[in-house]
Amino acid sequence: MRRLIEKAEKEHFLEKSEIASLLCDQESTVELLSAADRVRALFVGDAVHLRGLIEFSNYCRNDCCYCGIRRDNAQAQRYRLSVEEVIGHAAVAKKMGYQTVVMQSGEDVWFNIDKMTRIIRAIKEMDLAVTLSIGEKSYEEYKAYRDAGADRYLLRIETTDKDLYHRLDPGMRWDNRLRCLQDLKRLGYEVGSGSMVGLPGQTTESIAEDILFFKELNIDMAGIGPFIPHAQTPLAQAKGGSLDLSLKTMALTRLLLPDINIPATTAMETLDPNGRIIALQSGANVVMPNVTMRDYRKKYELYPGKSGVNDTADDSRTCVEEKIVSIGRKIGTGKGFRGEYLKEK
Ligand code: SAM
Repeated sequence: MRRLIEKAEKEHFLEKSEIASLLCDQESTVELLSAADRVRALFVGDAVHLRGLIEFSNYCRNDCCYCGIRRDNAQAQRYRLSVEEVIGHAAVAKKMGYQTVVMQSGEDVWFNIDKMTRIIRAIKEMDLAVTLSIGEKSYEEYKAYRDAGADRYLLRIETTDKDLYHRLDPGMRWDNRLRCLQDLKRLGYEVGSGSMVGLPGQTTESIAEDILFFKELNIDMAGIGPFIPHAQTPLAQAKGGSLDLSLKTMALTRLLLPDINIPATTAMETLDPNGRIIALQSGANVVMPNVTMRDYRKKYELYPGKSGVNDTADDSRTCVEEKIVSIGRKIGTGKGFRGEYLKEK
C-alpha cells in the first residue's frame, strides 16, 4: 500500500484496482490522508477559501431516493426566497467578507432564466464570484447564466454506477447529467462535480470509477461526502456512508487531481463535530459556511442532523475561521479559482 501511495503522490495516477485496494485497506488510512495533505500544501497552498452558501429554495421537481427535499416528501416544509431576498443574502455575504457565493436550490422551475439572470447580474455588481448549484438545465439556460456572469457551477454526478444512479434517481438519466457537465465545460464555467459515498449497493470499485471519472473530465472542484439516510425518504433504513471511507475517497481525489478545489463538506461535519477540520487536514482546501437565514436553513434538510442549522451566518463563519487558524492554516484572500496558487508561486 505504501508503494501505491508513493506512486499516487509522485505520478498523480493509479489504476482502478489500485484505488479500490487503497479504499478497502484499513492499515494505510493515516498514510493516505497525510499524503493528500502534502499534495494539497504543494499544489494549492495553506489558504482555505471560504464560499458563502445561500440555500434559496427547497422546491424540487426531482424525486431522488436519498434526498430530504425530494418532490414526494410531503412533510418537507417548502420555502422559496424572492429575487430581492436572494440578492439581499448575497449583500450580507459580501459585507461579511466573502468573495464567492454559492447559490444552491432544488430544481425549482419558478427561478426561470429571467429571474436567475437578474439575480446573477445584481450579485456580479457586488464583485463577488458566483457559483450556481441548481441542477440539470438546457445548454441555452446554462449559456444565459454564463453570459450574465456566473463563474462556476456545481453538479455532482452522485455515482458513476449508471444502474445505481437510475435506481436512486427515478425519472432522471445519467447520460443527461454527463451532458450537463460537458455543456458547462464548453461554456467556460469552472466546473465542480462530486459524489456520495456509502450509497446502498455502491461498491469500492464504483467509487474508484468515480475518482477516475473526475480525472477524465478534468473537473475543477470535487465535493465528496457521505450519504446520510433521511427518515422521510425510501432509503430511511439504509446504513449510510462512513466518514473514514469519505475521507479516503477525498484524499485519493486530491492525489489524482492535485490542483483542484476540494471542499470539506457539511455532510462530513454532520458525522463528526470535527469532520471539516479533519477533511482540511486530509486534502481539502475549501469550506462553504452557510449564510442562509436560520429559519430557511432548517428547512433545507437534505439529511438529518445537518451541521450548523441552529447557527447564524456570523456563528458559521466565526466558528470555522477559528478552527482553520487553530490548525495553522489561513483564510484565502482571493476568489480562489483553480490554479491561482501555482500561478502566484
Ligand atoms: N439540485 C441541485 C443538484 O441536483 O445538483 C443542488 C441541490 S442537491 C440537494 C445537492 C447535493 O446534496 C446533491 O448533489 C447530493 O449529493 C447531496 N445530498 C442529497 N441528499 C443527501 C443525503 N441524504 N446525504 C448526503 N448528501 C445528500
